[in-house]
Amino acid sequence: MNDVDLFEAEAEALERAKSVLASGTEDLAGYRAALEELVQNYGQLMRQSRRLISRSDRTERELNQLNSRLKQLSDELDYKAKHDNLTGALNRGAVFERAHQILEQSPMSVIVLDIDFFKRINDEFGHPTGDAVIRELVNRLRNALDGVGLIGRVGGEEFSILLAGTGLDEAVVLAEKIRHAIAGDIFACLPSRPVTSSFGVSWAPAGGDFEDAYARADEALYQAKRGGRNRVEREATVTE
Ligand code: GH3
Ligand code: MG
Ligand code: MG
Repeated sequence: MNDVDLFEAEAEALERAKSVLASGTEDLAGYRAALEELVQNYGQLMRQSRRLISRSDRTERELNQLNSRLKQLSDELDYKAKHDNLTGALNRGAVFERAHQILEQSPMSVIVLDIDFFKRINDEFGHPTGDAVIRELVNRLRNALDGVGLIGRVGGEEFSILLAGTGLDEAVVLAEKIRHAIAGDIFACLPSRPVTSSFGVSWAPAGGDFEDAYARADEALYQAKRGGRNRVEREATVTE
């Protein structure tokens, strides 16, 4: 594409005015013609500049709006990548990520819980009721924890709670409180029977291995299931 001089007419007018000035002529009409041409071109330049400036202001505003929308979408995407969409709890990947981060800094207790005989709830009342039970259960976890700890959904009807800086005894007390919060009151979405859960609790020191702590909590959960369900068991070997 050829280079187009956007200011060709203005440049010519300027050149003509310069040469009239340089000629030193005393021809008033010549000065007047050159000045008129300059005034006309100068006015046009100003109008064009105003239009350009307001267009670039508008473009900048649109770009800013697009940028903040992009930031909002990227935050939403980030949230969705880390949260379970049924309950809003952290998903399994995010639980493991956060657990590793916490253990780099401090000791941590882990509670894992699993809804008892959940398959029967699904079979007898249908999947949507099962989903409603899961949502209500997570609400009860949130209320019982009152901002303490991180709640994750690590499997279909299995959850974990990460408790940074909490000792094993304290975590077991908390697990009992949660067990009660679930089993103690009938769920509105399942009025005909109580919902119960079984719990396993473990502890890891700062720098400890989360996979190992999780396996110990899982083993304790298995003991709770075998022991009759609706109960809390702690890890077998206390490392605290
Ligand atoms: P246990 O007391 O031994 O834990 O028995 P359970 O019936 O709870 O365990 P099981 O592993 O046999 O069944 C779990 C069921 O959870 C099977 C699966 O269909 C159901 N499930 C998993 N994810 C979801 C979900 O998102 N929504 C619903 N409604 N059901 C789910
Ligand atoms: Mg279960
Ligand atoms: Mg299960």
